[in-house]
Amino acid sequence: MNEKRFSKTEWKRLEKGLCRSRRPVWPQLTAKDRKKALLYADKYKYFIGKAKTERESVNIIVNMAQEKGFVPFEQVGPGSDRFLWTFRGKAVALAVTGKVPVSNGIRIIASHIDAPRLDLKQNPIYEDLEMAFLKTHYYGGIKKFHWVARPLAIHGLVLKGDGEAIPVEFGENPDDPVFTINDLLPHLSRKVQGEKKISEAIPAEKLNVLIGGLPLLGPEDMKDGVKLRILRILNERYGLVEEDLISAELEIVPAGDPRDVGLDGAFIGAYGQDDRSCAYASLSSILELERPLVTSVALFLDKEEIGSDGNTGAKSSFFEVVLYDLMRNGGLQIEADSLVRMLIASKAISADVTAGIDPDYKEVHEEHNDALIGHGVCLTKYTGSGGKCSANDAHAEYVNWLRRVWNGSKVVWQAGELGKVDEGGGGTVAKYLAQRGLDIVDIGPPLLNMHSPFEIAHKTDLYMTYRAFAAFYNAED
Ligand code: MN
Ligand code: MN
Repeated sequence: MNEKRFSKTEWKRLEKGLCRSRRPVWPQLTAKDRKKALLYADKYKYFIGKAKTERESVNIIVNMAQEKGFVPFEQVGPGSDRFLWTFRGKAVALAVTGKVPVSNGIRIIASHIDAPRLDLKQNPIYEDLEMAFLKTHYYGGIKKFHWVARPLAIHGLVLKGDGEAIPVEFGENPDDPVFTINDLLPHLSRKVQGEKKISEAIPAEKLNVLIGGLPLLGPEDMKDGVKLRILRILNERYGLVEEDLISAELEIVPAGDPRDVGLDGAFIGAYGQDDRSCAYASLSSILELERPLVTSVALFLDKEEIGSDGNTGAKSSFFEVVLYDLMRNGGLQIEADSLVRMLIASKAISADVTAGIDPDYKEVHEEHNDALIGHGVCLTKYTGSGGKCSANDAHAEYVNWLRRVWNGSKVVWQAGELGKVDEGGGGTVAKYLAQRGLDIVDIGPPLLNMHSPFEIAHKTDLYMTYRAFAAFYNAED
């Protein structure tokens, strides 16, 4: 059989026309865009350093939105088209009204603003061997060994006996003391830790935070002087008593600011980038929206890391208030099926991070399909585990629409999965929003060290996530 032999030029032309190449973002950017990417990373670094809890995230998002003309919906006057809603201080929604009626459908980007951490237990303070400690209960998926022998801070809120709410933050100011969880020295850990599985080497009940070591001066036979001194300090500084810690949410988070990582500063290392990197990208893109075709909403949700349960998580119906408000504001006659019909006509992004391939652990990744660091924002058509169990598997038509939107806006994107099929898996808010009938797909930057106290993101991936979200809101069809 005679088969044509292609020349090198023809070969290259064929390759260019037929194959999808995976190329890093940086060389594809114009000089202007490279500058913009770095500027975006700097602004993001400030945000991620300040938003270490869901409540702090809500406060920063609300402040930034109000500066850009967003007004709480209940205070709004006629003619407003930029609204905000907050829910129990832990979730927030922003909306910009579009040119077409909301009954034609809206666009939603939903991210989550909770992150894995250590919460204080209800009765946290105790003293042992003349040292005071705080008992913790971890929140979300952590590797416990990440949290020992490192500087920690306390962030949160305490409600006093009279109902007054006291915001608490220790450990971030350079003059503040920090806290830590002690680990066993290697000389004595051979059996207690070394012979155990890594997940069992540090039991959760040993994640106790060192908080003091100076006994209060008093008569010889008095006990627990260190604990008493700590309570006295809390009382002098904040007017607190021990029982107040029961009506409190105090979170132990890594102390310190985000940092550039690498001599070339390619990466940002910070706590909470899952998923505040997506929260910041959706915030940045909705703040810049002027008058989109379709009414656009950014949802910042709580409780994703523990299954989206609770009345500030994606399974809850609180954000229907946002949608009803938007329908009424748009002059829509509300019938029993209005909400469902509007949602069925709507498009959404579950804005969440994915795992980038770690060169040291290629064995858990599938190199043809997992996301490459520095290669752009990643579209994950389905999450879940095993045979797509518990997945929202986005429809090809919707993926096609996004592909056209991004290719028309020079977004550098990749399509990926989270790890090898049999290796594990995970979920996002996508399936809970999908239950309401809208089209939704997972989109976000790939991270290294995900769920650790120092997650790593590539600056170009962060920038492309923002560009992908902006293109979604601005798409004119
Ligand atoms: Mn996430
Ligand atoms: Mn997560």
